[in-house]
Amino acid sequence: MADCIFCKIVAGEIPSTIVWEDDRVIAFDDIAPQAPVHTLVIPREHHADLSDRMGADLLGALFAAVPKVAEVKGVADSGYRVIVNNGADAGQLVGHVHVHVLGGRRMVPGMLRFEDE
Ligand code: AMP
Repeated sequence: MADCIFCKIVAGEIPSTIVWEDDRVIAFDDIAPQAPVHTLVIPREHHADLSDRMGADLLGALFAAVPKVAEVKGVADSGYRVIVNNGADAGQLVGHVHVHVLGGRRMVPGMLRFEDE
């Protein structure tokens, strides 16, 4: 996808700090981390979001990578939060499906904050 920033990372056209990769999935550190560990896990293939023809195999590969990333980043035992912002209301800013893996610091329980609060 020509104008997709994450496709450019997959293609090596813009730099990233790669944490883990295989033939279908690549994980790299978020450029603006919101926790001591903040890594994004994406499919190499372009899919705008989870509703965009994501087959079960690719979804499985995407989520199977998450604990591997947590291991590499050293948060497998301490725990981590996994977030997918899917679509406008969820605050998805980059239109290439991605899983946020966040950890390295104790979080409070609960997770939703709304724009109109
Ligand atoms: P989302 O709101 O779920 O679409 O999150 C997009 C994430 O992509 C944000 O956390 C950004 O900081 C991150 N991001 C944007 N551009 C880059 C980049 N070039 N390298 C790494 N992370 C990026």
